[in-house]
Amino acid sequence: MDLEKIVLQNLESIVGPEYVTDDPAILEAYSKQPWPHGILLRRRPFAVVIPSCAEEIQSIYRVANRYKYIVIPAGNYNWDVPTKPNTIVIDPKRMNKIIDIDEKNMFAVIQPGVTHAQLNTEAMKRGLISNTTGGGGPTSVIANSLFLGMGGFVYRLGMDKTILAAEWILPTGEILTTGAQAVKNATPFWYEGTGPDLRGIMRAYLGLLGGFGMATQMSIKLCPWPGPKTFPVAGISPEYKAEFPPDIFNFHLIQYDTLEKLVDGMYEIGRAEIGGAMQRIPPLCMVFNSTTSKEELWKEWETGYYQKEAEFLIGIWLVGFSCKEQLAFEEKVLQQIIDETEGKDIPADHRLFKCIESWIGEWFRSGALGRCMRPAGSHALMNMASESLDHAAKVFADGHTVRKEYPYHKDFFDADYDWIGPTDFGWYAHLEVPFFMEQTEDSMKKTIEIATRGVQSALENKVHTVIQLGPTHPAVGPVYGNYHLLLKEIKKVLDPNNISNPPNPISVEDD
Ligand SMILES: Cc1cc2nc3c(=O)[nH]c(=O)nc-3n(C[C@H](O)[C@H](O)[C@H](O)COP(=O)(O)OP(=O)(O)OC[C@H]3O[C@@H](n4cnc5c(N)ncnc54)[C@H](O)[C@@H]3O)c2cc1C
Repeated sequence: MDLEKIVLQNLESIVGPEYVTDDPAILEAYSKQPWPHGILLRRRPFAVVIPSCAEEIQSIYRVANRYKYIVIPAGNYNWDVPTKPNTIVIDPKRMNKIIDIDEKNMFAVIQPGVTHAQLNTEAMKRGLISNTTGGGGPTSVIANSLFLGMGGFVYRLGMDKTILAAEWILPTGEILTTGAQAVKNATPFWYEGTGPDLRGIMRAYLGLLGGFGMATQMSIKLCPWPGPKTFPVAGISPEYKAEFPPDIFNFHLIQYDTLEKLVDGMYEIGRAEIGGAMQRIPPLCMVFNSTTSKEELWKEWETGYYQKEAEFLIGIWLVGFSCKEQLAFEEKVLQQIIDETEGKDIPADHRLFKCIESWIGEWFRSGALGRCMRPAGSHALMNMASESLDHAAKVFADGHTVRKEYPYHKDFFDADYDWIGPTDFGWYAHLEVPFFMEQTEDSMKKTIEIATRGVQSALENKVHTVIQLGPTHPAVGPVYGNYHLLLKEIKKVLDPNNISNPPNPISVEDD
């Protein structure tokens, strides 16, 4: 019997024949995603497996080690499509149970197939909410928390603080428990537990991309939700609007005339510890949220209105988490800060406010993610940084310099979609300088060139970068304490046969 048949039979004996497929039509669906490496290098997996429990996942990794097959743990969008032959994709859709929601201690214990939308539906009934991110309601909570976990709420909750205890299958098939989960019969609410904090092998700033095995269970931090028990959405997409009780929730759009004043405003708001969610809203965001087609979008953009009027805007949700009086108090503090920092509170009937009306409620459940693909069908980053709010101006200026170096597809590069997402009440900020590209081979090659140039420029100009994925490791490593050498050693120990989604998180193939 040939090797492929043997591997297939092994997989079937683990999960049952109905949960393994090598049907080309299904495999094709697992080889699609909008990012450059996926578009340029994608190939169908060898098989897709849908296990029901951690023990089955252990066995799948063991089979992969025995026959030197590759394993990719999937979430929901499949950020990582196969680029190498003999790849087994693990789809966790049968492992979609919310095992527990501990209302008192505000955390949920979930399996990898649970989505933000699913968790929030249950959490909101209990006066709680997950750290729903711009990644979107349909993303796996575990994959999104491991990958990035960035959304408006991180202003209050923090960026990388949602992962508590976990159950993890290492590439060798061994099982690892972390935090309080490591202590038999303990409540899995604490991320450190006893001994070293092992969250570092689960995620870096941008995740380890399935390179160190698969999380099969995780406790996730929740935060209070004083809103309705079901999400209050009205209307039909894209005209829908979420209406929250006005005595508990109020959204403000604040306009400044310089980036420096906007940053000062964010600092002061954070210092006062008011607000539930806050971000810079870039001009392009205004347009893709108020238009219904690509054609309409570019027509609006070319009027030049948004580049001028929406250049320096803060969006902030004030929320009466504890009582209505909290909201009333925060309104007064915010008005004082707006006056002192020379901002302008945009009224709700203003054209700019109307542009994003259908989207602001989505900060709490992220149902409008797809709209940011409207400009061109794909987007990539010139830089992503995690630094002080002050540093934002440097990150943006550096990114804009790189934009100007590329007249090719100029229309896309000129669109300002630069994010500033303060976290932990402005203690630091998540910054992004994206650009938009069509999904053609030519554009994708250019995208890789520009993204690489963006990181190189940041390093040359001493601007922070956290884009530490695949090909950028050798350039970024020496500037950041040679972390890449350590990462390689860890990969070799944890994944001796290099079967866990190589070359993630770092290539060891040339060693
Ligand atoms: C248009 C767009 C906008 C985005 N904006 C944001 C944003 O604002 N904020 C944000 O946080 N993210 C954002 N993202 C990224 C997004 O968060 C990730 O794509 C998503 O979180 C991943 O969830 P998923 O369920 O799709 O997982 P996948 O894409 O399937 O997986 C993500 C990675 O994690 C690995 N992985 C999956 N499951 C596991 C597991 N159980 N154990 C170990 N590794 C695993 C996968 O191998 C893969 O490398 C955006 C993505 C897109 C396409």
